[in-house]
Amino acid sequence: MTEHEPTIFDQIIAGNIPCHRVYEDEHVFAFLDINPLSVGHVLVIPKERAAQLHLLSDDAAAALGRVLPRLCRAVLKTTGSEAYNVLQNNGADAHQAVFHVHFHIIPKLPKGPGLGLQWTTQELEGGEDLAAAITANIEES
Ligand code: 5GP
Repeated sequence: MTEHEPTIFDQIIAGNIPCHRVYEDEHVFAFLDINPLSVGHVLVIPKERAAQLHLLSDDAAAALGRVLPRLCRAVLKTTGSEAYNVLQNNGADAHQAVFHVHFHIIPKLPKGPGLGLQWTTQELEGGEDLAAAITANIEES
């Protein structure tokens, strides 16, 4: 799958495949996930076609960042949930199934359904060198 190959989300944006839309502006589209982890599970996507987050333009990323908190507030208000996860998968190894950037907003009720997480941590080693290496690899905008 290349970064420019169309996906089912392009068809949804174009209106060729039905969805339950919750938001749309010039750059962003949001709709209910067809197989929700919990009630109110929303997908937020850029209209720009990019397979993964690191391939997205600054403008599309900014448009997403601008509206995400507002959409989270709407989901919380609608579902009565106070907790939620925002999940964004990149690559098949990271559980990405649809290769068009998308953010999941997943409400979590106490002991209720939602995102299940196994958070297996390691000791941080070589932090100083690692942080410096990542910093050095940040491209100019
Ligand atoms: P991923 O694993 O790629 O992060 O998640 C893809 C999400 O897209 C899944 O949660 C899946 O249920 C959702 N999805 C896949 N196809 C469709 C579709 O045709 N319509 C809607 N509304 N959601 C879809």
